[in-house]
Amino acid sequence: MKLKSLVVLLVAFYCLPSIAQQSKTSTALPRPKLVVGIVVDQMRWDFLYRYFDRYQAGGFKRMLNEGFTCENTNIDYVPTVTAIGHTTIYTGSVPAIHGIAGNDFIIQSSGKSMYCTEDTSVQTVGSTSSAGKMSPRNLLTTTVTDELKLATNFRSKVIGISLKDRGGILPAGHSANAAYWFDDVSGNWITSSYYMNDLPTWVKQFNSEGKVKKYLQQDWNTLYPVNTYLQSFPDNNSYEGKLNGAATPTFPIKTSTATGFSLIRSTPYGNSITLDLAKSAITSEALGKNTVTDFLAVSLSSPDYIGHQFGPNSVEVEDTYLRLDQDLATFFSFLDTKVGKGNYTVFLSADHGVAHNPNLLQDFGMEDRYKKI
Ligand SMILES: [Zn+2]
Repeated sequence: MKLKSLVVLLVAFYCLPSIAQQSKTSTALPRPKLVVGIVVDQMRWDFLYRYFDRYQAGGFKRMLNEGFTCENTNIDYVPTVTAIGHTTIYTGSVPAIHGIAGNDFIIQSSGKSMYCTEDTSVQTVGSTSSAGKMSPRNLLTTTVTDELKLATNFRSKVIGISLKDRGGILPAGHSANAAYWFDDVSGNWITSSYYMNDLPTWVKQFNSEGKVKKYLQQDWNTLYPVNTYLQSFPDNNSYEGKLNGAATPTFPIKTSTATGFSLIRSTPYGNSITLDLAKSAITSEALGKNTVTDFLAVSLSSPDYIGHQFGPNSVEVEDTYLRLDQDLATFFSFLDTKVGKGNYTVFLSADHGVAHNPNLLQDFGMEDRYKKI
């Protein structure tokens, strides 16, 4: 199976002449101050264009207009799941070599199945739950983030951020300063003792602000009138699952009645809070202010949870990408202000795509090998 990888690069070319000008009078090489890698979990390549008409200027369209796309980049491997997708993007390698053979896989020497980033030798930092007993120890090769560390004598700062532990840990590599992921039990962003023994003050502060509940209290309604979502089936259709005990898979989705914190994963607010933390990391860790290039690896997990729940032909998924586009526009404006136009490079890719619902294909006469359930 080939992973058709979506890669969009945003490079502020218009500032390069000024860098070239500087290089005539100094020995400094023109390097970005900060690289931001964004992986959108389950973003199919065609979503760049499927929802294009309603994307605004500063989000996906800015990347397409100011950068370039690598639309036929293939690395062969199977299966196309989250852990392997992230690892393959950041190592350029395949499971047989980089060692991440699935989200869960069997260790041949013991015959036991284990989770990709499971590590019983480390402790959770930031919660009393066991969700932090994770590290990149099963990763057998270096990542581009590790290579950046090696190239700069470990002066670069590297941080990984994702709701999913594997989405933050694997891209950040072995030598990261930190990786942060979300703990459903406490509602905190946490890490493991692989990286540190105590959360930085800025992460503790972020956790203390109650952002998860604030987002969930807003409920989730569509940005536009629901009948204008022309790229999706009607809001109530038989190919969707129901969220949070709802009677129908329809808007408004009452996130305010949720108990606990985990529901944020299955809403667009999961992307928003991940980018909130990314912004705090840039400010508090002074990313992009270093004498060498820093790297922030961000994975946006919510599109995957939402896609699994509602399927790719749902209003929920369409609305998720329109909201993500707005969040990305805000994030890029933040980077312009904090790091400076022309001083940073952003790439955006996906760890895997998503298939159509086989029942839908069968109903439209496109699939007859699937037993309808
Ligand atoms: Zn995934």
